[in-house]
Amino acid sequence: MGGDHGTPGGGGRDVVAGLDIGGTGTSVVLLDGERVVAREHAATPVRDGGAAMAAAAAGLVRSALAAAPGTRLVGAGVGAAGVVDAASGTVVAASDSFRDWAGFPLAAELGAALGVPVRVENDVNAFALGEARLGAARGLDDVLAIMLGTGVGGAFVLSGGLYRGPTGAAGEIGHVAGFGDLSCTCGGRGHLETLASGRAVARSYGRTAGVTVAGAREVADLARAGDPHARGAFAAAADAVGRAAVLVASLLDVTDVVVGGGVAAAWDLLADGIEAGVRREPPVSGAAVRVRPSALGRDAVALGAASIAPAAALSLAG
Ligand SMILES: [Zn+2]
Repeated sequence: MGGDHGTPGGGGRDVVAGLDIGGTGTSVVLLDGERVVAREHAATPVRDGGAAMAAAAAGLVRSALAAAPGTRLVGAGVGAAGVVDAASGTVVAASDSFRDWAGFPLAAELGAALGVPVRVENDVNAFALGEARLGAARGLDDVLAIMLGTGVGGAFVLSGGLYRGPTGAAGEIGHVAGFGDLSCTCGGRGHLETLASGRAVARSYGRTAGVTVAGAREVADLARAGDPHARGAFAAAADAVGRAAVLVASLLDVTDVVVGGGVAAAWDLLADGIEAGVRREPPVSGAAVRVRPSALGRDAVALGAASIAPAAALSLAG
């Protein structure tokens, strides 16, 4: 074999890259079939603009290729924070923390930098694909994925493929009302996000305990130590997620749910409450509603993104 390794167009085994470009970090996995052969992670330069973020992501892919000699990159998929036009691979809208991200032609720029075709999806959609194809919902055709992060996102895999809806907003379970009366980040009231996001758990604890905490992870530590206010905050989140799962199961007959994101890392504090929320008012069909934690953890978005890479060996209908 020649000295080729990790260069687009070089010899060696074909691999695809999966990228997770989030508000704090960017992660890259290289996949040979379903096997992860290299991983890279670095902070996302959100303040430096879309071009810098894409350049940093391309740099991580190159580092991963260098760490996996004898591989040849043939395609890449990206799960990106924000609203994404999957057809063009362009970021359509993003939160204020990102500079020059909305409007950025990510697929085109990253494709030019890496010399391979690139597809882009919203990160929650990529999470759903990752769990349905390789994770907690592997082998299931119809799945609701919920991400309990800073906010609450959701996505559907239906009949084995992503269901986006006519405007790309399918699965936005975080902004469905009927979950109390608190103000939501979107301007609405009583949305699932007001009880189940990381911010909501921290705020809920702060309200009852009269103490300000940094985030849900701190509340989880307090809950495990027996703090009743912290346990109450997680109980409220769990109950809301359980009821949301029943809502979807009743409307769409989608009874398999995967929950990921930072809050779901405290599954020990959520599992019983979710189960109770599901059991209290089961769908009229009588079908069992199964709510599982993410099996892929921090890799879920990147692995789902890899599965949409052009030429991905594990790619199904996307
Ligand atoms: Zn909302």
